[in-house]
Amino acid sequence: MAECFFHTGRPAVARCKQCGRGLCSQCRIVTEQGIFCSDKCAQTFAVFVQRLKEAEERQAAGRRSSRWEQWVFVLILLAVVFFLVKKFFF
Ligand SMILES: [Zn+2]
Ligand SMILES: [Zn+2]
Repeated sequence: MAECFFHTGRPAVARCKQCGRGLCSQCRIVTEQGIFCSDKCAQTFAVFVQRLKEAEERQAAGRRSSRWEQWVFVLILLAVVFFLVKKFFF
């Protein structure tokens, strides 16, 4: 593996998940999201993950509502057909 970005000559044991810098055991910052070189990188990554989650939730919500609208459309169509059949054949 590469050497630590902050300590020349010291072997890197991990890599920053955000910027990819090599980190020694002293420099790495371990968070719930992974290992980072600085708070700034950890924050940048957390924001990125949050945005991704929000986008996925929006997409899922969009899929749900469009499916719901389709069902309403089908039900209205059936009601109209039923109404017309009743009117013309009985
Ligand atoms: Zn970094
Ligand atoms: Zn280091």
